[in-house]
Amino acid sequence: MSERDGVEVVDSVTAAFGRTYGAAPTGVWSAPGRVNLIGEHTDYNGGLCLPIALPHRTYAAVSRRDDDVLRIASVQQDGIVEVALGDVSPGQPGGWGAYVAGVLWALRRDGLDVGGLDVLVDSTVPLGSGLSSSAALECAVAAAASDLFGLDLLGSRSGRARLAARCVEAENVIAGAPTGGMDQSASLLCDERAALLLDCRSGETRQVPFDLDAAGHVLLVTDTKAEHALVDGQYAARRDACEQAARDLGVETLREVDPAALGAALQRLGSDEVRRRVRHVVTEIERVGQAVAALEAGDLDEVGRLFDASHASLRDDYEVSCDELDVATETARSKGALGARMTGGGFGGSCIAIVAAEDVEPVSTAIAEAFASHGFAAPVSFAVTASGPAARNR
Ligand code: ADP
Ligand code: MG
Repeated sequence: MSERDGVEVVDSVTAAFGRTYGAAPTGVWSAPGRVNLIGEHTDYNGGLCLPIALPHRTYAAVSRRDDDVLRIASVQQDGIVEVALGDVSPGQPGGWGAYVAGVLWALRRDGLDVGGLDVLVDSTVPLGSGLSSSAALECAVAAAASDLFGLDLLGSRSGRARLAARCVEAENVIAGAPTGGMDQSASLLCDERAALLLDCRSGETRQVPFDLDAAGHVLLVTDTKAEHALVDGQYAARRDACEQAARDLGVETLREVDPAALGAALQRLGSDEVRRRVRHVVTEIERVGQAVAALEAGDLDEVGRLFDASHASLRDDYEVSCDELDVATETARSKGALGARMTGGGFGGSCIAIVAAEDVEPVSTAIAEAFASHGFAAPVSFAVTASGPAARNR
């Protein structure tokens, strides 16, 4: 669980807003980070993914302003970012303010009547650890904007999906990070004790029961603290490779490639590297369906096997793992985890493992010791439960 609980952060972010802007905020909204159980690098291929919302959340204390100015401050960053809404564009404002300003820009572009805000954020989601602090930030602000400007988008799943789409645009266009849609959908649409099966082709979602406690297990997240920057070229390069492969195969997205006919499809591709990228995407989408069936059947052993297969595919075919993620997952498995895999975009970030409740300490300790012996930075491991979506707290 997070080191600070929600009530405490709601109080402290309210107080910080008062110190920064000289008045109490109208309210406090929050949105969760996420871990994806399985289905990695599938969202931008029209595929399936299966995130849960974390208990870790980003909290935004917010008031409306009478003008079109947006002021944003964060406990996690220095200074106040100030920008007129009419000036928001790709790269303006630069840095972290883009994630917030981008949300209002996208809502406006969607024809919604939004104006200026004073915003102060604080977060228990680790930044840049692959747990989606960026979407938590966008979705907390989107939730606040929905309520403060009377958009009424939090009350229905379709409204929440619309907010999620605007948050994706904020991240893609204004912050310049070409991520898919999973993170924002997870943050706005996940339910407690459930994973969200998200079909990124149709936009359809379905809740899948996810309550490992009942089976005496937990989901252990390990933040490897390894360098992770999605806004670099690697993520974009994978995405470009998939889009080019889809064009070469004459399909809209790699979702259209029938897993049963994968061998024939691969033969039509020009390089071994592209074949491996496509094989990851197609088999990973298939594994999501298998994981949903296994969860619904209560077969955690099978879910664990699918985690392992997903990790191997991301490591060998998609090449987005790194030494820290490989050591963490191998150590968890060697200490009895039912399965372990990297989660999020990769190149660092976090991994997840299904472990028996009594093994949380020994597995966490073994990962920390393995990291020390490899000379890696100290990792942080914590058990998580599937938590609730973006909401107003006060
Ligand atoms: P992840 O989403 O996995 O945490 P990203 O690289 O996508 O990693 O997003 C991290 C970036 O999001 C940070 O570098 C910062 O710019 C912004 N960010 C996230 N949370 C906050 C916050 N609480 N305050 C300020 N900026 C934040
Ligand atoms: Mg992110």
